[in-house]
Amino acid sequence: MIESQPAGVRLTVVKVTTDQDGLYGYGCATFTQRADLVKPAVEKYLKPFLLNKTTDRIEGIWQSCYDSSYWKNGPVLNTAISGIDMALWDIKGRQAGMPVYQLVGGKCREAADIYGHADGPDYKDVVEAAKRYLAQGFRNVRVQVGIPGMAGYGAGRTGDAAVKALHDKPVFEPAVYIRRALKLLEVCRQELGEEVELLHDMHERVSPNEAVQFCKDAEKFKLFFMEDPLSPEDLGCFRQIRQNCATPIAMGELFNSPHEWIALIGERLIDYIRVHVSQTGGFTPARKIAVLAEMFGVKTAWHGPGDVSPVGHMANVTLDVTCHNFGIQEYSPFNDRTQEVFQGCPVMKDGYLWVSEKPGWGIEVDEKAAAKFPFTAGRNNLNGGWGEVRRRDGTVIKQ
Ligand code: MG
Repeated sequence: MIESQPAGVRLTVVKVTTDQDGLYGYGCATFTQRADLVKPAVEKYLKPFLLNKTTDRIEGIWQSCYDSSYWKNGPVLNTAISGIDMALWDIKGRQAGMPVYQLVGGKCREAADIYGHADGPDYKDVVEAAKRYLAQGFRNVRVQVGIPGMAGYGAGRTGDAAVKALHDKPVFEPAVYIRRALKLLEVCRQELGEEVELLHDMHERVSPNEAVQFCKDAEKFKLFFMEDPLSPEDLGCFRQIRQNCATPIAMGELFNSPHEWIALIGERLIDYIRVHVSQTGGFTPARKIAVLAEMFGVKTAWHGPGDVSPVGHMANVTLDVTCHNFGIQEYSPFNDRTQEVFQGCPVMKDGYLWVSEKPGWGIEVDEKAAAKFPFTAGRNNLNGGWGEVRRRDGTVIKQ
């Protein structure tokens, strides 16, 4: 296991070694919020289960790992399996002398169209951030704005004093957020024009009916997509959004189980499936999700934030360039320290992300460099876990 925090986020990568000199592979097993639990899931359970087995039967190994805990589809165990699964694809690519994208049939597009995160405390900050992306060649931006005195999602705090509340935790009020976000979309359309594609992430923070109304009110701004309007607990309400507006919907970064995505895709209730590939169990199940989605006219938009390791990002881009129903890819830049640890990160050029041409994932991990950035206790000493956000009266808000 390689654990490192080169950009302030806990990254975990599994290294699978073989009895052949110099033949090994890396897989993303990053679950930042519960990182310390993934390590024993791999080392105490999957490692003894897999020791002395062949590496070349990826599907069979995936199925046996998945079944070996009897209870399954949880985030820690899926992430652990992902570490093994992606490492086996890496090994197979190294054996073949080919990048993984060649093993699954080759490219059907040159590179992945991506979107950047344009955010800031106020509307003008977001517009400026978006213009910086456009100047780099981007065609798509996700826009998020701060809320005065509150903890908005995906944007910096404003300079305002915290709003009055019956507790001392960060405050979030759904109705205030929605009014502010709608205004942001209006400002962005005015300031950035009709040619840019706008995306917005609701991050599952509002009630089902508020979500329906927000998606309906946002329809006139012609978004590329509205992300996570509902939480996984409210999947039954996606039908209401569909019945009320044509705003394209992206959903799924919190999904772990086929029981969560099958109905949404099969009933064509979303436009983009947006799972976190390692949370589904790795590259192998993600390919199946893409095929299922293609059959129902749903496109892919794999989760690609900072809490995916570069190995996971390469798996994302590999899916992006090999699946016909690719929609868009979320982009997070790699800082210098991350590139020191992970040599061969996907390259961004002109607003596209490019897959490696080297064998396997094309990434080498410098374990000495990784050790220079150990996990820290993190914000509030929560070992990478998130804190809490509450309404003014103290009600917990989903994050
Ligand atoms: Mg999101």
